[in-house]
Amino acid sequence: MFIKLLLYLYICTGLAIDPNLDCPGIIIVPRDEWGSVIPKIDEELSETPKFVFIHHTESETCSTQNTCEEYLRNLQLYDTNILGRKDVGMNFLIGGDGRIYEGRGWNTVGDHTPGYPQSIGISFIGNYDDFLPTSSMIKAAKNLLNCGVKKGTLDFEHSVNGHRDASCSHCPGNALHGEISTWSGFRIHDLSYRNCWEKK
Ligand SMILES: [Zn+2]
Repeated sequence: MFIKLLLYLYICTGLAIDPNLDCPGIIIVPRDEWGSVIPKIDEELSETPKFVFIHHTESETCSTQNTCEEYLRNLQLYDTNILGRKDVGMNFLIGGDGRIYEGRGWNTVGDHTPGYPQSIGISFIGNYDDFLPTSSMIKAAKNLLNCGVKKGTLDFEHSVNGHRDASCSHCPGNALHGEISTWSGFRIHDLSYRNCWEKK
């Protein structure tokens, strides 16, 4: 009945079907909506990603859609003008308002974790060395992963790790790294390239 109603709305009224409908529990703010000024680079992932890397922005967080969108616009300028990236490095970012902000999205190669171009980078906006993101932010990230699996844009058996597990970085902060190490997908042994601390 619900599907029929959607079809009716789509066919008879011309209303677009919300692309987030197949991903319950999350709100993804598309890059057009937060005011992206630079086109997403067109380098598609060549395989369904098997790795997810969690980051934090090591900055103030944002608590409303307006302030989070402003943060995204500034981040894009920083990533491109200062760091020399072609776009925002992350595939997705989680705002303090519990919304998910589209970076490069599911299908485009990101620029976030060296050695793992075929992976999805998700960054929590804020600094999570000493305290955790809110429960709504954590829930949004977990729902996003479930959504990716459901849509077929993330491998069913993907592993989740922190940036620090694969690189010389403290990202995503001690508290957040402790949190993701309890997630069912956390599998550091899946990494072929481990962090620099273990190599010494
Ligand atoms: Zn990071």
